[in-house]
Amino acid sequence: MAGLEDLYREIILDHYKNPRHKGDLEPPAHSCKGFNPLCGDEVVISVQVDDGVLSDIRFSGQGCSISQSSASMMSAAVQGRSLDEVADLTRSFKSMMSIEAEDGEQDAEVNIRELGDLAALQGVQKFPTRIKCATLAWNTLSQALDELANGATADD
Ligand code: ZN
Repeated sequence: MAGLEDLYREIILDHYKNPRHKGDLEPPAHSCKGFNPLCGDEVVISVQVDDGVLSDIRFSGQGCSISQSSASMMSAAVQGRSLDEVADLTRSFKSMMSIEAEDGEQDAEVNIRELGDLAALQGVQKFPTRIKCATLAWNTLSQALDELANGATADD
């Protein structure tokens, strides 16, 4: 399977070197910062939600290739999706990372195809210390959406 792992490594490096959706959004978009002290990774996720749809997303940050490429892949995957679809994708990604959903719901199987480029990160689950790198952007996105749902303003 060396060929597949090479392909995955190329996809990860491509997102790291040529990040999609890099940048910030102006208010009323909401931003949230995440930090992974285990590795020193930082991401800031900015989200714009209109009528239950994640209409725009940008990220910035610094850190290892896993954390930054995950943020890039995630942004490309969730832009334009409904919040329900975003929640489903988040659950699928965390299942791929062998993290059980917080509500205790065990996903029967992960639709790898639905995850697109994100499937390139599935090898990370073999390295438990890197899982937090891969999930940092997702946790930060969830936090940003939670804060928006709870009425956060752009000044928070
Ligand atoms: Zn990292």
